[in-house]
Amino acid sequence: MLSDAAALITGRTDQHIESINERHGMHKVALPAFLKLQQKAKLDGFDLSLVSSFRSFDRQLAIWNRKYTGQATVLDINEQPVNLDDLSELDKIQAIMLFSALPGASRHHWGTDIDVYAPNLLPQGQSLQLEVWEYQEGGPMHPLSIWLNENAKSCGFFRPYDCFRGGVSEEPWHLSFAPVANGLQAALSEEIIEETIETATIEGKDAIIANLSNLFSTFITNVGVFPNE
Ligand SMILES: [Zn+2]
Repeated sequence: MLSDAAALITGRTDQHIESINERHGMHKVALPAFLKLQQKAKLDGFDLSLVSSFRSFDRQLAIWNRKYTGQATVLDINEQPVNLDDLSELDKIQAIMLFSALPGASRHHWGTDIDVYAPNLLPQGQSLQLEVWEYQEGGPMHPLSIWLNENAKSCGFFRPYDCFRGGVSEEPWHLSFAPVANGLQAALSEEIIEETIETATIEGKDAIIANLSNLFSTFITNVGVFPNE
C-alpha cells in the first residue's frame, strides 16, 4: 500500500500541484515563491520562464523507457550522443541517469523543482537546447545564470545540480524550492524507490534493483544544498 507521502515523492499523485497553465504546475507552497522570483527577474530585465515544472511518474517512465530502448537520444557529459548498444545494463542506466532521473526519483515529481530560462535572452530564431554551454560565459542564458546566483536564494531557491558531483550532470537551469524540497528529500528512501521500481513496467528493472544502493547514493542524494551564510 502506497502512503500519501510516498505517492507524492514518487510522482504518483498531483494533489499537491497547482496548475499554472496547460503545460505547467508547481507545488502549492512553491508556486508563490516562484511568482515572486519571476517578478524580481522582470524588474531586472529577465523574462523568467519555465521549461519544465511538475512531471508525473508516468511521464518520467515514458522518457526513461524511450531512452533505454534507443527511441530517444542519450547524451554524454560533453552533450554528445551515446551509443547504448555497446553498453552493459548498468552502464546504460548510469548513462541515462546523467541527464534523466530514475522514474520515482525525479525532483520534478515534487513540484518544488523547475527548469528555467529567459526567452528574451535568446537571439532571434534560436531556440533553447537546454545544454550547459547556453548558461556558461558566452552563452545566451549566462546573464540569467549570474542573476540567479545572486537572487534565487532570496526566494528560497537553490541549484541541486550546480556542478557535476559524479552523478547527475551540471544543470544550471534546475532550481529547487528548499523549504519544501528539503523535507521531501529527507523522506525519500531507497525502500520507497525499490517498491516503485518493482511495481513499474520499466526497462532495465533487474539491473536497477541490483544496483540500487549505488545508484541512490551516486545520483539521487548526491546533490547541492541551500546555501547558508
Ligand atoms: Zn530539471
